[in-house]
Amino acid sequence: MFKLKMNNFFVISTCAFFLLTGQLAHAQEVVVYSARIEQLIKPMFDAFTKETGIKVKYTTDNEGALLARLEAEGKNTPADMLITADAGNLWAAARAGLLKPVQSEVLGKNIPAHLRDPQNEWFGLSIRARTIIYNTNKVKPAELSTYEDLASPKWNNRLCLRTSKKVYNQSLVAMMIAEHGEAEAEKIVKGWVGNLATDPLSDDTRALEFVAAGKCDVTLVNTYYFGRLMQKDPALPLAVFWPNQSQGGVHVNVSGAGVTRYGKHSKEAIQLLEFLSSDKAQNLFADVNMEYPANPNIKVDAFVASWGDFKQNSMNLAKAGELQAAAVKLMDRAGYR
Ligand code: FE
Repeated sequence: MFKLKMNNFFVISTCAFFLLTGQLAHAQEVVVYSARIEQLIKPMFDAFTKETGIKVKYTTDNEGALLARLEAEGKNTPADMLITADAGNLWAAARAGLLKPVQSEVLGKNIPAHLRDPQNEWFGLSIRARTIIYNTNKVKPAELSTYEDLASPKWNNRLCLRTSKKVYNQSLVAMMIAEHGEAEAEKIVKGWVGNLATDPLSDDTRALEFVAAGKCDVTLVNTYYFGRLMQKDPALPLAVFWPNQSQGGVHVNVSGAGVTRYGKHSKEAIQLLEFLSSDKAQNLFADVNMEYPANPNIKVDAFVASWGDFKQNSMNLAKAGELQAAAVKLMDRAGYR
């Protein structure tokens, strides 16, 4: 009898011990799935841990693999937060029921409305501008004006584009559908295709290299690719042009994050999300990849600032997701491969 009691006591206290330590361990960590590579996230996570004592565990992979994993894991997922580039991907994660709405005054204040989900399931944390880059030996900036103008005959055989398979271009075209309607957007994309100097290229850097080599005169890329290339070789005859400044503004997209629907540390995940939107982390998040802070109160990195100020398009980026399928079909019809 006594022995049984002791055993019970032992079992109960052992259970209590594991419950308690289990909970403590839960309370002190947050698990992140990130499509941003380690070097682009670790500095912010370290700063967060230093300030709060909350550990950040993370796994990095491409966005397709992470979304598939979240879907497969369902309610058993260890992930509390998803970080990925492009609003199209964030929208797809929300649409698949993998994220949950976050009500946060801090996020509402730090992140402009067009850079976050209207249902608060994802939040942009850094801005990526998809703009015109031109060869300074072959183009005068006065010749340039808008994305739409790149469809006009004067750019015949002078344009390079990255493949339409990349979500960046799908989002760009989706936002053009939102702005102009489908028929008009299709006319523009057809015009681009007609002006191509080469077949669509595999990535933004390749497109920039073609422009620098004079194989084409202009292209559309995210500015951080331009920044990386210019840091390697400042003598390249390339410059940034900010289009649509008298119209809707420059097409922007985001890197951003959402809190997973079934994560076990949602409170800590929201805390991390708020931290990432704050002045303590915004420069770390944006500058490390030569992006623009999403929080408009934060100063832009000096090298990035040297490319000049611009007006950004303020249409809500949820459109990039909503109209992505239509954009893919449109680009196919237009012969944009
Ligand atoms: Fe990129």
